[in-house]
Amino acid sequence: MLGRGVLSRLHCLTEQDSFSLTLYLDIDQNKQSNRKGGHVVQAEAMLRQIKSKHAKDREVSKAVTAALGLVHELKTSGKTAVVVSHPGIGLAEVHQLQVGLPTSVHWRRGAFLRPIVEAMDEHERYGVVLADTQRARLFTVQLGELVEHEDLVSETAQKTRAHGTDQWRAQSRQDRHHDEKAALHAKRAIDALHDLSLKAPFDRLIVAGPRKAASQIVRLLPRRLQGKLVETISLPVNAPSRTVLGSILKVQERVEREHESTLVDGLLAELHDGGKAVSDFAPVVDAVNQGRVWKLVYGKGFASEGGECSDCGCYLPMPGSPCSYCGGDVAPVLHCVDRLSQSVLDMGGRVEVVDGLASRKLAGVGSIGAVLRY
Ligand SMILES: [Zn+2]
Repeated sequence: MLGRGVLSRLHCLTEQDSFSLTLYLDIDQNKQSNRKGGHVVQAEAMLRQIKSKHAKDREVSKAVTAALGLVHELKTSGKTAVVVSHPGIGLAEVHQLQVGLPTSVHWRRGAFLRPIVEAMDEHERYGVVLADTQRARLFTVQLGELVEHEDLVSETAQKTRAHGTDQWRAQSRQDRHHDEKAALHAKRAIDALHDLSLKAPFDRLIVAGPRKAASQIVRLLPRRLQGKLVETISLPVNAPSRTVLGSILKVQERVEREHESTLVDGLLAELHDGGKAVSDFAPVVDAVNQGRVWKLVYGKGFASEGGECSDCGCYLPMPGSPCSYCGGDVAPVLHCVDRLSQSVLDMGGRVEVVDGLASRKLAGVGSIGAVLRY
């Protein structure tokens, strides 16, 4: 888990004059290429690259050694590993994230945290209330991680059968009593939710529980919370955390897919003469070289071999021929899109990897595109 606490601590590295190494590594074990230590091989290649780029700097070699040690020992459980190493103050740590971030490596002043901060913005925090007529559990979900904040139980008795001669009247009195208690409980749950929204602000709200209890909570929500409601889902109140998280992630994924689809639509709409976007590998590579890319967008799984000029450092869509900018020698680059991503991030741009419908739409124009700054 990488909370604000860890982030602000790492952010303090910017106060150091000496450099820090930051490595973003894809460790998702659902991917074939990462199994059997594939992610370690990838880390070694990237760290070798940064080491040779700063060959004269003795500190970088210490940082790389420390980072490699951490990657070797890592027990993978997330999708992305963030390794930060600062030899000057003996800091070396690794954190795992439950979201996929583009692979990149940085040697600069201060830890490179922007991808995480942006992911936090983009993967909005969800507040969740899971309640029946007696119990209410409150959670937040961010960056794929679930935190349970509260578990409150009210004295709402289960509905019972009345007995005796005056059975009908007694029954309706009991039912009314039960309904009042249930409404009180729903209000308690909403108060707690309100407190949570002040303590751990969330952007979107999901109400979960048996259908009747959940819809009562929705009915009683104050307007401020009503505006955050994205969905009501049916779930037993004692569902294990794993199940709760699973259902929230499904909703989140749908919201994320919609966002990606809008992004790709925006990009496609700018693909005309004088428009602010380009698509397909070669034009995108050219725009990256010119530092014009604001948002690099590519379909999940997009892979293309490219090249890097050993003289001017530009990327080229085709290895093998001399550099089209300066005529220098071009060395092949295997995961060219990772290097392009890094270059875009270094220049303050953003990178989005899209899936599903957005990815299929983008496939029509070469599976990669870029929204330009100018
Ligand atoms: Zn060149």
